[in-house]
Amino acid sequence: MGQLVLRGVGKTFHGQSVVQDIDLTIEEGEFVVIVGPSGSGKSTLLRMIAGLEDISTGEMFLDGQLINDTLPQGRSIGMVFQSYALYPHMTVAENMAYGLTLAKRPKPEIARRVSEAASILQLTPLLERKPAMLSGGQRQRVAIGRALVKEPALFLFDEPLSNLDAALRVDMRVQIARLHQKLRSTMIYVTHDQVEAMTLADRIVMMSSGSVAQVGTPLALYHHPATLEVATFIGSPR
Ligand code: ADP
Ligand code: MG
Repeated sequence: MGQLVLRGVGKTFHGQSVVQDIDLTIEEGEFVVIVGPSGSGKSTLLRMIAGLEDISTGEMFLDGQLINDTLPQGRSIGMVFQSYALYPHMTVAENMAYGLTLAKRPKPEIARRVSEAASILQLTPLLERKPAMLSGGQRQRVAIGRALVKEPALFLFDEPLSNLDAALRVDMRVQIARLHQKLRSTMIYVTHDQVEAMTLADRIVMMSSGSVAQVGTPLALYHHPATLEVATFIGSPR
């Protein structure tokens, strides 16, 4: 579960093309990191995969199923954003359960999923706290927990750590790597951080002006950057 195929995927906003002709196959269990300058279409691409944005051209398949017209809640996808606004009046447990409650899942199932996700993310002692009583890293773990309770085949992360300070970023990066090892779910992770990209990725996708500039393993991009932009981002030797 969690194979994603994009064929000729593009997005036009008000007649202006912001993502063009993306062809990409992401295998089950793969950790793919998307990098590229601000405005290169990374968030738009993730939002299309999540179903939060219609696609203008092309086709998307999740585990062989065409998902172009599938509503977000019908896709087995969990998304974690940079700004992960939690509901301040709800406890950690209620925040994590919220999507499942809306989807009218049975109460015992919600309780089981929240408890499992809390255990994986080391949030069990914090389940009855309100967000104001949490540190930045703990809040971000709750945001990941909200995606995790959906038990998705595919996780999407849009610069999830860029609001955290440097030390915490390293800590969270290790936790995300552990989560991937444990779940073996497919993960697509957008970041500006070169170290995050190099350490987390099975493959890196470099985007430039709405297109894919290069796809490859971190080592392939390091040793054989296709463009100066790739070389600069990766820090390839000249
Ligand atoms: P990135 O995440 O790589 O910084 P985005 O996907 O956010 O890039 O944006 C890509 C381009 O699409 C930008 O030029 C941005 O202004 C434009 N864009 C994004 N969302 C919208 C929208 N809802 N309406 C119009 N233009 C948009
Ligand atoms: Mg973005």
